[in-house]
Amino acid sequence: MSKHMFSDIRVPIDEDNPSIKRIEEKCIKCGICKGICKGSLSVYGYYNLENTGNRAICIGCGQCSISCPTNAIVEQYDYLKVKEEIKKGKIVIFQVAPAVRVSIGEEFGMEPGSITIGKIVSALKKLGVKYVFDTTFGADLTIMEESSELIKRINDKDTLPMFTSCCPAWVKFVEIFYPEFLENLSTCKSPILMEGSMIKNYFAKLKNIDRDDIISVALTPCTAKKYEINREELKGDIDYVITTREFARYIKEENINFKDLDDSSFDNLMQEGSGGGTIFGTSGGVMESACRYAYKILTGKDPSDNLLEFNDVRGLSNVKEAELVINDIKLKLAVINGTGDARKILEKIKNKEVYYDFIEVMACEGGCISGGGQPKVNMPITPDIKNKRSSSLYEIDKNNKSRVCYQNMDIINIYNNFLNEPLSDVAYKYLHTTYIDRSNELNKKEGI
Ligand code: SF4
Ligand code: SF4
Ligand code: SF4
Repeated sequence: MSKHMFSDIRVPIDEDNPSIKRIEEKCIKCGICKGICKGSLSVYGYYNLENTGNRAICIGCGQCSISCPTNAIVEQYDYLKVKEEIKKGKIVIFQVAPAVRVSIGEEFGMEPGSITIGKIVSALKKLGVKYVFDTTFGADLTIMEESSELIKRINDKDTLPMFTSCCPAWVKFVEIFYPEFLENLSTCKSPILMEGSMIKNYFAKLKNIDRDDIISVALTPCTAKKYEINREELKGDIDYVITTREFARYIKEENINFKDLDDSSFDNLMQEGSGGGTIFGTSGGVMESACRYAYKILTGKDPSDNLLEFNDVRGLSNVKEAELVINDIKLKLAVINGTGDARKILEKIKNKEVYYDFIEVMACEGGCISGGGQPKVNMPITPDIKNKRSSSLYEIDKNNKSRVCYQNMDIINIYNNFLNEPLSDVAYKYLHTTYIDRSNELNKKEGI
């Protein structure tokens, strides 16, 4: 029998998949994973095992895992390796992605959307983590660079529409199925990789720590990021990614009473994120944050109220469209959830049926709040649960003293002391990346 048993019923998963794995004895062959991968992701059914050399094509999103009713598909576990590193006395540094703070409480009997950031930091410190930083800082860095890149592309009449690049599953989707659009991807690294780079190349120097002594870990809602950190051009800045579910498991195994933990704060240097950095965790958040800063770049003024609550790009709809006029520049925007809908839009762009300047794509429906590594305590993960997680991110944004990346003191300091300005040579060196045409994966012969 082929190594992909029952591939007519369920989605094939290779043994060396860095994001997910299947536990055979738990699989009831219900076929839900296949439906998800084919439908909202538009991956399964768009390749043929006979042509790929019997390799499954996977963008790592983990949506099959979040939907599997028996937990037969799970993330590749890395938390035990992190535990080992802590035991060895390594300098373990964590960063915590936005969507984790509004979902992990569900694992401990709390309501969906409970904001638990202080407890997360306390739990990490109890486990022996030396420094804990906020990925919203990395998200702010991303916006500093990405909005600047968008304006530069418009001014230089360079390739448009520009696509966001913070979702590694989306990036891989483009690389495999639509390499003709590689130039459209923003060259910005994702927030965790920008922050990972700053931890090993900036923080380490300031603290006089050898970067090789640091074990850098990202706590994220995402299974695709397990693959992303090992991409050849990104390797080395982050050592492990663990998901929200893995972290909850780790806490339970260590008998930490998460619900009763006091709050602790993030550590200095990458302690602060703006509200705009926080809403990266939900669909439309990257777009909204980028528009806030683009407004500042083009007008020199703080964004007006309609950009601090940009309702046209909020919500769970699979495709959201908006227009924004700043000075005499008119921007046509689209926000897409799910690579299935992205495929339809890419086809329309190819056929010149639609035009956009800037497109945000997240592989998971609703964005990272619904990531493949998020809690599965309340099944199915209904729109109500997604809305509660998302509303809490908007609430954090609303209550934040800084709402836009350039108002974040930690961002001001790192540009003053290290990066100079957005799109500077130093910024390009540490915060930007390149992409690869992977379309040959669709047409390989066995063994090659
Ligand atoms: S969804 Fe889970 S149980 Fe159903 S076929 Fe896929 S792996 Fe098996
Ligand atoms: S992780 Fe995503 S792309 Fe990979 S098999 Fe699952 S649903 Fe399909
Ligand atoms: S939407 Fe977020 S959680 Fe889902 S694959 Fe993309 S980055 Fe990961």
